[in-house]
Amino acid sequence: MDTSNSPTEPLEVVIVGGGIIGLVLTVGLLRVGVKVKVYEQAQGFREIGAGIAFTANAIRCMSLIDPAIPTALRSSGSVATSNGGEEDPNDYLRWIDGYDRQREDEPYQQRLLYKLDAGYKGFEGCRRDQFLEALVKIVPPGVIELRKRLETIEDRGKDKKLLLKFRDGTTTEADAGELMWEEVIGCDGVKSRVRQVLLGEDHAASHPRYTHCVAYRTLIPMAKAIEALGPYKAMNQHNHVGPNANLLHYPVANNTMINAVAFVRDPNEWPDDKQTVAQGTRDDVKAAFPGWCPAVQDLIDRFPDTLSKWAIFDLWDYPVPRYNGGRLCLAGDAAHATSPHHGAGACVGVEDALCLSTLMQEVVTETRGNPEVKEQALRAAFTTYDAIRRTRSQWVVNSSRRVCNLHQQREWADSSKLVRAETCFEEIKDRSLKIWHFNYDAMLNETRQGYKQKRAP
Ligand code: FAD
Repeated sequence: MDTSNSPTEPLEVVIVGGGIIGLVLTVGLLRVGVKVKVYEQAQGFREIGAGIAFTANAIRCMSLIDPAIPTALRSSGSVATSNGGEEDPNDYLRWIDGYDRQREDEPYQQRLLYKLDAGYKGFEGCRRDQFLEALVKIVPPGVIELRKRLETIEDRGKDKKLLLKFRDGTTTEADAGELMWEEVIGCDGVKSRVRQVLLGEDHAASHPRYTHCVAYRTLIPMAKAIEALGPYKAMNQHNHVGPNANLLHYPVANNTMINAVAFVRDPNEWPDDKQTVAQGTRDDVKAAFPGWCPAVQDLIDRFPDTLSKWAIFDLWDYPVPRYNGGRLCLAGDAAHATSPHHGAGACVGVEDALCLSTLMQEVVTETRGNPEVKEQALRAAFTTYDAIRRTRSQWVVNSSRRVCNLHQQREWADSSKLVRAETCFEEIKDRSLKIWHFNYDAMLNETRQGYKQKRAP
């Protein structure tokens, strides 16, 4: 079969991975006139019922990609992570003393260590599964195919389309199918197969590394959370810090639940980098918070008997040297998987999606009456994307590791070192503001200029 491009064909892009970034990018590319196909290995979009929060900045980036995306977010029950009401409508990040150093002769009171103003609706939290389902509703039928696990991508030369081979996630290799496409964007997460194809399986960055931190994640009904924390703490984001662990929670699902994540340092190696989610128990979590204050202990008592234990892997040790290569490109965690201590991995992926959608719009415009330049235009777009996005997104990976170390300092347990420990919040503030106040207008200007320079005769 002749698979060479005809000049009248629209631009075709395959997105591997229908996670948050894959779907946000799909909506963005469809909006600028690209023909998109998404291949997702899972059977459906009901991934774990954990929560996720987006910065106001990332939500503005979503609006620029397509206003239907923030609408989908809100229709999925997203709420601001603080509930100060009319008196104080802004969102804050709050760090609170989680470790119990109280003296027996003093009544116990948890101390707020630091509060950082994230502005009006600075963060909105939702359930991941509900947001994914809402995103799927704004993608036309036929675009997304489930149970398609990418195995390989074969580049058969300049005038031929890429050959993608899949293995149906529920069956064996005997059922493999073959499909042909033009460009492939890997949005296939931390263990990205597209990244391995792009860099080679032996490349250090093809394999994420263990951060020596695990996350126990659960959703707790708001009434139960209030019993443990009291109404104010339960209804507002708080990060309880202490030695070797921290416990973060914020409201989700129209304030009917809190999303709670216990981050625990692990000095051991993780046994299997293919299986990074294990079953944990409430007793495991309790054992990781010895000597912590009553509110934290009470909340852990309300965790389910068993819950997911996520080994956190990232690309800090060996960052990806380039986000594009040939007709392949990486976005989201596939490009810059980060530990979650800034709560910004997906937010930075949304910035990628905005950059890529903008570039693809340039390519569509340029090639509309001029299809013979499609190949060079696409190469210019992906190279520009790499130049614009790589350092910022990889800085977030580094910064998140640093913030984890600050959250989990051993000094929190030592009264004589507490004053020094608290100076960390100046640093955390600077790092957070760099993420929250991202100048996406400047990024878009640089993106368009970078593309035009590459396309200049
Ligand atoms: P993923 O969400 O991993 O999606 C990848 C998709 O690709 C999956 O659906 C997968 O099934 C599919 N796939 C994989 N391989 C293949 C293949 N070979 N073929 C086909 N499909 C494939 N970020 C925030 O911004 N805010 C937060 O509050 C936040 N909290 C977090 C809390 C925790 C505990 C963790 C671990 C992360 C958190 N993050 C947060 C980070 C965020 O979860 C990720 O950055 C985000 O999910 C990345 O989205 P993605 O679409 O790039 O990858």
